[in-house]
Amino acid sequence: MQNYEITIVGAGLAGITAARRLKKQGRDRILLVDKSTSVGGRLATRRVANGKADHGAQFFTVRTDELNEDVEDWLEKGWIRHWYGEDYPRYTAVDGMNRLAKQLSEGFDTLLQSKVVEIKRQDGFYKLIDDQGKTWKSEKVLLTMPVPQVVQLMKDSQLNVPVETMKQLKSIAFEPTYVGIFHFQHATSLPGSGQVDQDLPDGMERIVDHQKKEISDDVIVSIYMTGDWSRRHYGEDYVMGLMKEKAASYLDFDDIQSEQLKRWRYAQANKVIRSPYLDLTGEGTLVCAGDAFLRENDSAGRTRFESAYLSGKDAAAFLSW
Ligand SMILES: Cc1cc2nc3c(=O)[nH]c(=O)nc-3n(C[C@H](O)[C@H](O)[C@H](O)COP(=O)(O)OP(=O)(O)OC[C@H]3O[C@@H](n4cnc5c(N)ncnc54)[C@H](O)[C@@H]3O)c2cc1C
Repeated sequence: MQNYEITIVGAGLAGITAARRLKKQGRDRILLVDKSTSVGGRLATRRVANGKADHGAQFFTVRTDELNEDVEDWLEKGWIRHWYGEDYPRYTAVDGMNRLAKQLSEGFDTLLQSKVVEIKRQDGFYKLIDDQGKTWKSEKVLLTMPVPQVVQLMKDSQLNVPVETMKQLKSIAFEPTYVGIFHFQHATSLPGSGQVDQDLPDGMERIVDHQKKEISDDVIVSIYMTGDWSRRHYGEDYVMGLMKEKAASYLDFDDIQSEQLKRWRYAQANKVIRSPYLDLTGEGTLVCAGDAFLRENDSAGRTRFESAYLSGKDAAAFLSW
């Protein structure tokens, strides 16, 4: 049975950032596991014809010196660029947000299409079991998936997580988000940066033209609905129709070649906790982190790229040997 120093469940930004910090601290038997076919989680980019669309996070902002230091490095490497906003710069990945996740996770031992379904405590180790029946041992475990999925995993595992800690986990709540992805034949009339987030119809958060965002050859446009609207219409089959109706004054839907709908069940947390990670068993060996875990002094107060980054970093520091 393979044996790791640490297994990080979830190769989104929190998991990848934790892995990078642990590596810097000298750990070399790190395993990143993800149930998906790619790393990145909600840093997600979809190919559409000869183009692509970021259908998860579209940009990120920077409030801390820690992220700023990495941002300087990523800018120098040509991985990200300033997209728009002068007072509060919005950065985006030059080749799509998922590409940034791939660049950041390069060189790590990564197991994809592996959903961890149970964790057992055995002889001072953790034994992890995935949905393919694969098992391995790990001294420590960091869980970075959206918290409702952590709660489920804890329910399916025989671990000593105190009731109070489970209560804290269950207090975190996520909202869904619907994203419509449209392939147009001709250029849109959206502004130069390709994004609109002001004065939109009720329920609509943002429209992004990915050709104008400079990550797509074809004209691929995404419409992001708000968490509240997405929750109210969750699971309904008329969502795409409503979305197009609302966006009709911005886009010419007679010009579309294709359309697809992405439904994020856990998009952004609307109830977070003010602690950058949780030590689940009090032993310092099984820890939960991710974008819903905010530092006490977090000035934005909401789940986002930077909160995932900081949570991953702080959890890794806590887990260090
Ligand atoms: C539509 C949308 C728009 C957004 N826009 C922005 C934005 O513009 N700016 C911004 O700052 N933030 C934005 N966000 C939020 C941002 O994307 C997230 O805060 C951040 O990417 C979360 O990172 P994470 O590592 O905490 O979680 P995730 O990225 O969700 O990573 C968790 C990973 O765990 C994996 N996983 C889950 N369960 C298991 C299991 N049992 N076994 C193995 N793997 C598992 C998942 O596949 C996933 O890859 C947006 C999010 C969405 C969905």
